[in-house]
Amino acid sequence: MKILVINAGSSSLKYQLIDIETETVLAKGLCERIGIEGSKLNHTPKGGDKVVIEKHMNDHSDAIKMVLDALVDKEYGVISDMSEISAVGHRVVHGGELFSKSVIINDELKDAVKECIPLAPLHNPANLIGIDACEKAMPGVPQVGVFDTAFHQTMPKEVYMYGLPYDLYTDYKIRRYGFHGTSHKYVSSKAAEILGKDIKDLKIITCHLGNGSSITAVENGKSVATSMGLTPLAGTVMGTRCGSIDPAIIKFIADQKGITLEEVDNILNKESGVYGISGVSSDFRDLDAAAKSGNERAQLALDMFVYSVRKYIGQYIVQMGGVDAIVFTAGVGENDGKMREAITKDLDFLGISIDTEKNKGIRGDEAIISTEDSKVKVLVVPTNEELMIARETAALLK
Ligand code: AMP
Repeated sequence: MKILVINAGSSSLKYQLIDIETETVLAKGLCERIGIEGSKLNHTPKGGDKVVIEKHMNDHSDAIKMVLDALVDKEYGVISDMSEISAVGHRVVHGGELFSKSVIINDELKDAVKECIPLAPLHNPANLIGIDACEKAMPGVPQVGVFDTAFHQTMPKEVYMYGLPYDLYTDYKIRRYGFHGTSHKYVSSKAAEILGKDIKDLKIITCHLGNGSSITAVENGKSVATSMGLTPLAGTVMGTRCGSIDPAIIKFIADQKGITLEEVDNILNKESGVYGISGVSSDFRDLDAAAKSGNERAQLALDMFVYSVRKYIGQYIVQMGGVDAIVFTAGVGENDGKMREAITKDLDFLGISIDTEKNKGIRGDEAIISTEDSKVKVLVVPTNEELMIARETAALLK
């Protein structure tokens, strides 16, 4: 069975065609600058070279058509006919409280995704456009929605509620939702598999550390807490996002600088985090280089990131009454050994100790990096959201 996985953004569309029996990627690619001058498709077939097709794409329907043409192309295609695609799995960012698992999309459910637009005004409309475009191009092929928020719908109420008037929850659904759910679900189940244990017997803390970062407590296979909130702005310090701050700061900045709430929001989302602190970059490699050459603000940004991640690890160990495994994933978590070492430093008293030599050599590979006698296992597990979306899609078809 072949599943097409689609991640539609406002002007881009990422895809992978996955053979679910062998879990291999047959082709993957990206449509860029949809609706903008200079649009192009980057397509890479399995075992082949990247092909760049420069052609104007008016909208996402044009983009999907180009993707399907590329997939069946005589030269660089990987299937002989579109009918080989059994279903399409779509990443949808926000499912609110309406979606606690993946669903086969119908008109009613599309309306439910629309209802979630106020919660993710930048992402959900693009995801819906992707669904519409696929329905048009591939009538009759099941379209499945896989939500970033769904995995976290198992959090207990005292964890997901904010200390705000209850009406704000009932009227506007203001609560913690959490994101990166597909990634946390994938790496926690993969970690259990690597450890040869049933996930139902494990307490796991998953650290998805990338440009956006979130930490999740996974108890018996279920998310019981996560660091992001109503939006992906909350939690740890991130690349350009501030993470959780004193909420009174927002009005204070607006008053002091005489700027609008939108402008403050832009500062918090795009000009803060390790970028805002360092003034150097949001990329951890640049920060590392700057810190090495004596840039104190770059070092401070790295130290703040480490502190904020450790804070959630500590919090979740207390919440779960212990931890069996800590998992690192995403750009920083998979590649940055120094960061993993700093985050797990001096935690031997909790039964957490990593093999520093082994840790140094791990870049983007699956590995156990804790010492033999570490009570808590520490792992690096490369995330694979596309495979998880394909698995969920295939499971629904069955
Ligand atoms: P992601 O959002 O998961 O794609 O992660 C992107 C971030 O990962 C980038 O901003 C980099 O800071 C970080 N990253 C990627 N590779 C490395 C590396 N080799 N060392 C340190 N950080 C890295």
